[in-house]
Amino acid sequence: MAYKIGDNCIACGCCISECPNGAIRDGERTAVINPDRCTECVGAHAQPQCMVTCAVMAPEPDPDRRETREQLLAKFQKLHPKRTPIHV
Ligand code: SF4
Ligand code: SF4
Repeated sequence: MAYKIGDNCIACGCCISECPNGAIRDGERTAVINPDRCTECVGAHAQPQCMVTCAVMAPEPDPDRRETREQLLAKFQKLHPKRTPIHV
């Protein structure tokens, strides 16, 4: 499932450059994740990079956007047709 950023985000911006899919941008008060670009980092990293980067643990799975690992991998491959996904 895609990740979302909780209200405790302090908008430090640290996670933005860590996302392998360019899914995070500055929002009005918090950073915001585009769910169409979030793969939970499947295909690129072993763990969601926004979550491991964030000092206040604001990124969290969005239960309203459940996707299988296969769906997330397919999303990654659509975003990066020339990249070989990592399998972990
Ligand atoms: S989980 Fe990964 S792909 Fe999704 S927004 Fe965070 S860093 Fe980007
Ligand atoms: S690293 Fe955490 S606090 Fe900083 S912008 Fe990202 S979600 Fe917000």
